[in-house]
Amino acid sequence: MPFSFRLPLALGGLLLACTTAHAQKTYLHCGRLLDMRSERAQTEMTLVIEKGRVLAVERGYSTPAGAQDKVIDLKNRTVLPGLIDCHVHLENETSKDNYLKEFTQNPADVAFGSLDYARKTLLAGFTTVRDLGGSGVNIALRNAINRGQVTGPRVFTAGKAISGTGGHMDPTNGYRLDLMGMPGPADGIANGPDQGRQAVREQYKRGADLIKIASTGGVLSVAKDGSAPQFTEAEIRAVVETARDLGLAVACHAHGAEGMKRAIRAGVTSIEHGTLMDDETIGLMKKYGTWYVPTITAGKSVADSATIPNYYPPLVTPKALAIGPKLQATFGRAYKAGVKIAFGTDAAVFRHGVNALEFRYMVEAGMPPVEALRSATVRAAELLGQTSNLGTLEPGKLADVVAVQGDPTQDINAMQQVRFVMKQGVVYRQE
Ligand SMILES: [Zn+2]
Repeated sequence: MPFSFRLPLALGGLLLACTTAHAQKTYLHCGRLLDMRSERAQTEMTLVIEKGRVLAVERGYSTPAGAQDKVIDLKNRTVLPGLIDCHVHLENETSKDNYLKEFTQNPADVAFGSLDYARKTLLAGFTTVRDLGGSGVNIALRNAINRGQVTGPRVFTAGKAISGTGGHMDPTNGYRLDLMGMPGPADGIANGPDQGRQAVREQYKRGADLIKIASTGGVLSVAKDGSAPQFTEAEIRAVVETARDLGLAVACHAHGAEGMKRAIRAGVTSIEHGTLMDDETIGLMKKYGTWYVPTITAGKSVADSATIPNYYPPLVTPKALAIGPKLQATFGRAYKAGVKIAFGTDAAVFRHGVNALEFRYMVEAGMPPVEALRSATVRAAELLGQTSNLGTLEPGKLADVVAVQGDPTQDINAMQQVRFVMKQGVVYRQE
């Protein structure tokens, strides 16, 4: 350790000046580098990291300039930008008693549970996520991660997701009225354009980074219909306009085509799931430049869980069996038609940390491996509006780096074997 670290606090200013002048650099020796700027991997490359960002990308294995600089040997690995999952829920995870937890968990229980999910997500190579809805604990989780108090991915959170009364985001569906009451805009339940505007402003006030709505029913809410529209176009338009004024994107959960079309015409940023998307919807998405976040893994896993007796409430099981298995084919059609696709899994509907399964399902449905990797890096960064910080490995970008064994452009299952994770220059996993 340099002697200057033992200097008294009074010399802190001087210390800062010294360490800035000789900032430690980390040299990553990369056997194979997929920087995601080009589609081809480069061999024997060095990434130079300084102050949490990529300083340089050099050919060959560069030798450190300073004595305090560090070298990390990734010569037997394929190195990529940190992965981005555009659809997770870090507050919870599937289990048979999930519906009971509404009555047994206090916010502090949710918060402690989320620590494990956040850590698993980061260690699986997902250095950035969009959290598309929870109770609002996800906002505190994001802040704790940003302060370095908690290990987890960089989080962009929607806070509490918004729908109408009895809609997919109404957390009181299926429970006794006298216990649960009728939530309003402050709790993410909005009816009519005015309440929609209020609900968006409530989430903005609490610190949400984006807005999540449901324009149709969903699988896991305790309600009969999983795909019918649940917002009028005027309601969605009010949400989108208010969000846009506040600089927030709008992610829209939708399974049925009518609810998707209303949302696309009203200007939402992304359609999540999109299960029953028809050709007209695909055409509208291309016309409006709407993103598609497929969540194939969620579709497959709810269908699997629904085969376990009493895993879900009786109203949920038939929806999971009907809707879940359709997602992969929908994704294949949307990709072939040229819809913009960003990687997203809906982790929580299945266990956190296996998000990379989605890559395999995307490739199975006809997407080339490099395109699947682009959807979780460059494309996801575009959806997040973070192209100056994320998505590629080039000078100036944040040093979010993962490494896997093998070559994922040849065998996409390599993405499930992440061996190295760096977020903003800090190493969290190294094997
Ligand atoms: Zn979700």
